[in-house]
Amino acid sequence: MSQGLTFELFKISGAPPALTRARARALTTRIPLLYLILVINMLLLASAYQGAASTLSTICAPGLLSAICIWRGGRWLAARHGQASLEAMVRKQRQTAILATLFSILFLAWALHLYPYGDAMQKAHVTFFIAITVISCILCLIHLPAAAFGVTMVVTAPFSFYLLWAGDDGAALIAANMLIIISVLVYVLIAYTNDFSLLIATQAALDAKQAETQRLSDDNLRLANVDSLTGLANRRAFFSDLQEVVAARGQEGRAFVFGLIDLDGFKPVNDTHGHLAGDDVLREVGARLTAMAGNGLRFARLGGDEFAVLADRDLDEAGVVELGRRLCARLSVPYLIGDMTIGLTGTCGFVRFPDAGATVEMLYEKADYALYRAKNAQRGSVQIFSPNMQKQYQNAKLVEQMLARADLEAELFMEFQPIIDVESRRVVALEALARWSNPHLGRVAPDMFIAAAERSILIHRVTATLLRKALEAAKSWPGEQHLSFNLSVRDLISREAITHIVALIESSGFPPHRLILEITETALMRDYELAQESLTLLKRLGAQIALDDFGTGYSSLSYVHRLPLDRLKIDRSFVRGLSQSSSSRDVIRTILQLCDNLKLSCVAEGIETEEEADLLRSLGCTTMQGYLFAKPLGAAEAGAFISSANDAARRAA
Ligand code: C2E
Ligand code: CA
Ligand code: CA
Repeated sequence: MSQGLTFELFKISGAPPALTRARARALTTRIPLLYLILVINMLLLASAYQGAASTLSTICAPGLLSAICIWRGGRWLAARHGQASLEAMVRKQRQTAILATLFSILFLAWALHLYPYGDAMQKAHVTFFIAITVISCILCLIHLPAAAFGVTMVVTAPFSFYLLWAGDDGAALIAANMLIIISVLVYVLIAYTNDFSLLIATQAALDAKQAETQRLSDDNLRLANVDSLTGLANRRAFFSDLQEVVAARGQEGRAFVFGLIDLDGFKPVNDTHGHLAGDDVLREVGARLTAMAGNGLRFARLGGDEFAVLADRDLDEAGVVELGRRLCARLSVPYLIGDMTIGLTGTCGFVRFPDAGATVEMLYEKADYALYRAKNAQRGSVQIFSPNMQKQYQNAKLVEQMLARADLEAELFMEFQPIIDVESRRVVALEALARWSNPHLGRVAPDMFIAAAERSILIHRVTATLLRKALEAAKSWPGEQHLSFNLSVRDLISREAITHIVALIESSGFPPHRLILEITETALMRDYELAQESLTLLKRLGAQIALDDFGTGYSSLSYVHRLPLDRLKIDRSFVRGLSQSSSSRDVIRTILQLCDNLKLSCVAEGIETEEEADLLRSLGCTTMQGYLFAKPLGAAEAGAFISSANDAARRAA
């Protein structure tokens, strides 16, 4: 390698770019210095020959040469700060090598011209002048070996021959001495430039490596902050952005708006059309949001089908609602994926900084609460965390905290509401309804504490406690009626929770075929595959499955025939409108037909008046639940209710 390099050293055009640049850097400072040395040496020699040789050779020639040297040196100095291209550097270096050789010839010719005119001392001065000039050239042009070597060859060889030829005393010795010294210097020159170009090559390789490392680290940083599917900022980048905005706007005392966007009906897209279609939808959502970004508006994908928006400007309530509506409208435009058209909506929950909170955690929690409220109100709607909501939020928080600390075993209990067959007047089943009585809060509505439990994993413990108590109570009742128990969304999509529930049922001693588990569509919407897996497990155990609150869900009909269902419960909102609204009647008629076709039993819930019961019966619904028949009862009361209802039915029969 070093031999190859030795040869390569003399290249100027084909030199590696890094070497060319390093040479240019070194030459800019050394060449002016070399010209200075040359001028001084020449003037000293010229003055030594004053009177001995003609004016032409002691004043005019050195004067002209000095002027050229000073002019060239000046040009090098002037150009030292300029930015030259690589080609320009190569050109200049080639020029330098040629000029150096030409100058050497001129200097040599001048010195040899003087030589015969001098005495011994003056001749020695010429020899000294030549030697010192060659050494200076080698040292100053060491980075450009072609030039340094050229000068050495052009000057040393002819001068040595001249000395030998001149035949002066001692001149042969001086010539030999000079040849030896200069040969050693040439050897040093080669070794040095060899090392120099190696050093530059290593440095260039290191620089390239560092650039590569930098590029990789930039890539990493980008990947770490970007959601690869949608190209939006990811959760981590967004929260670090939000943190900065909170700090900056906090100091300036300026407001901004932060919101969470959740896609409604995304899970079913994944389930029915596959994950690739789901990914396409998310990509399209990302593209639509990106198109809306700018002007202080930023978006991110926080995970799954949850997105975030940051509007870094002060919007009043109307402004936020307008923004939310615009977002929802954009997201609800049908998605064309392959040859399918997919419908989705987005629901938004917003908070304003600093009204809603002064920290990222606060803002996120309240935006999440507003989103939760929006989802409960209507899919595709917008909610802002308002001062009114503050109270409800605090209550919800308090319920959450108290529930986490509660003695569930002592404070939770069950009430049971009969489900009646209105023809035979028999009790078909009892629905277990959760109750919580807390020493500090008193009675808390199940809607509220179940929702609170569902916001954490506490729900699994709550469900387990309730189920155990319900099964225990049901075992002591007379008769063969069913026990209907409400499962939470979160139970159904947790393998661990379902396994625990199955074990609880098996060990309870209550016959599983008399158990009905009520589920809502929300569970199916969240994770259809897991929910279906859980339902299959429960069915295998012998339990029945009822779909609760039927008709209020998102796309009810599409699920019904694909699930292992046994019954539907018509939501009480349809029963409520029954006497006034013909559309409620139509809905109920359709549901009854559906049940008939699919061989499902049907329960109408929330019957409060005889009129409602009669109307339902006329439509063909005979299984009912509601305050008209019985309110939720304590465990013992429920047992007594069953006995007396069954007695009455027997008597009537
Ligand atoms: P749900 O499953 O639809 O339960 C029926 C609700 O309607 C009960 O309210 C019941 O008291 C009420 N109800 C029954 N008949 C009538 C009527 O004629 N008129 C009116 N206005 N209401 C009637 P409750 O007990 O307050 O439960 C509310 C919701 O809380 C339940 O709705 C269910 O979603 C949830 N929940 C109750 N217990 C449990 C439980 O053990 N586990 C789970 N996961 N959720 C439960
Ligand atoms: Ca229910
Ligand atoms: Ca219900």
